[in-house]
Amino acid sequence: MKKVNKIYINGEFVTPHGTETFDLINPAINVKIGEVILADEIDTRKAISAAKEAFKTFSQTTVSERIHYLEKLKITVEKKEQDLINIMIEEYGGTRQFATMSNQNTGSWFESMIEVLRNFEFKRNINSSTVQLQPVGVVGIITPWNASNSSVTSKVVTAIAAGCTVVIKPSEMSSLQTQILMEAFHDAGLPKGVINFVTGLGNVVGTELTNNPDVAKISFTGSTAVGKLIAKNAVDTMKRVTLELGGKSPNIILDDADLNQVIPMAVYGAYMNSGQACIAPTRLLVSQDKLDEANAIAKSVAEKIVIGLPENEETNVGPMVSIKQFERVQNYIKIGIEEGATLLVGGLGKPEGLEAGNFVKPTIFTNVKNEMRIAQEEIFGPVLSIIPYKDEEDAVRIANDTPYGLAAYISSSDNERAERVASRIDAGRVCINGFRHDPMVPFGGFKQSGIGREYGEFGLQPYLETKAILK
Ligand code: NAD
Repeated sequence: MKKVNKIYINGEFVTPHGTETFDLINPAINVKIGEVILADEIDTRKAISAAKEAFKTFSQTTVSERIHYLEKLKITVEKKEQDLINIMIEEYGGTRQFATMSNQNTGSWFESMIEVLRNFEFKRNINSSTVQLQPVGVVGIITPWNASNSSVTSKVVTAIAAGCTVVIKPSEMSSLQTQILMEAFHDAGLPKGVINFVTGLGNVVGTELTNNPDVAKISFTGSTAVGKLIAKNAVDTMKRVTLELGGKSPNIILDDADLNQVIPMAVYGAYMNSGQACIAPTRLLVSQDKLDEANAIAKSVAEKIVIGLPENEETNVGPMVSIKQFERVQNYIKIGIEEGATLLVGGLGKPEGLEAGNFVKPTIFTNVKNEMRIAQEEIFGPVLSIIPYKDEEDAVRIANDTPYGLAAYISSSDNERAERVASRIDAGRVCINGFRHDPMVPFGGFKQSGIGREYGEFGLQPYLETKAILK
């Protein structure tokens, strides 16, 4: 049994004041593998005080000092790569394929931000005046369970680059991953109080971070519902907020695309991280004329998807993180059937032989109408909706017709045409002909997918206050 019984405040691992515990369950077998002691408001305030104190000196550090700290952090975090992969598989059922991919990228957060820092001008002149960009203050970092390491690390990297100090509250469901990250961050030997970790519940630790006047900014990744709550609470102390929220991303297959090439990519993409990914292309938009052909390819691809224990190399789709999440996805499949969408593959119930865990059958609905709930709401499971469109105009209309605007995907054999369509899509990130990731390129949502941007120079700006000195 693993125990997470320390939090990290002011450079030390300390026993929290909070005493309640939260069970950590391996979702592939529904067996308790550990527990975490939940910190409380008192712990959170201590962490905030430590970060506030540390900010006095850390905010004055030079760019080259901060580059040095980022280089040290990169080494200690990368050392833990294998531990993070293994624990991600065990703690939330991330497949080995996904856990490896997402943890192997960790070094790139550091490298990209170091490159930004080397070129970034913290002081600029406008006419006879000077504009100073200075760190905003203590940042509260609140993250979800579905990509804990990359969420925490990318935010910490940016905060350190800006000269901010942080209090991190990862998801309680990621506590084992958090423990490894705490050790990695501690090993880097940054000044005391610059990085603090408080493990606990959202409505306790998260609420304290959001309300506390000594926190200047919240950087949040999670659901749109909680993001709205955070934004409302944060406004009382006029905190800056960066919100990375949910998505219902369209994947437009233009009529000149080669279906045999792009539909397999679309199906695998929708099932990335077992469908528990904010950027998953969950709405596949196909020309009405090509719907039958697309259905046939999608069905044959989905039937070959390997669903199984997440530790197995060949597994493409693992379990849902929790029983609650499993039930939520089952409920959406039921809604899809009731709404009259055609069930092409998958459906209700668990796959044979995997009854002990929270496994959902990889599911595809076709003939989906965009106004159906399965097309409008974030399901966060391996459920893909194929939606027919009449023409390009109709495809753009459907793509933009949800409350979300996080990511979008376009496939076409004509790059210029794809770019023209991309410019009409309401989403913070549009990928043409494939899935791409670049830590220098801004990431974030239009509409209810969020506020602000992360990554690279665009991600650094929201951690800075702008001061004009007129002479
Ligand atoms: P969640 O919103 O339930 O929780 C996210 C974090 O917020 C957790 O640490 C939680 O403890 C905390 N929290 C909960 N209530 C809070 C409150 N009242 N005040 C402050 N903090 C609170 O999300 P989740 O279920 O952990 O993650 C899945 C969601 O995250 C999905 O909606 C997904 O789309 C989204 N997500 C978005 C991105 C992105 O970059 N846009 C990336 C990953 C996940």
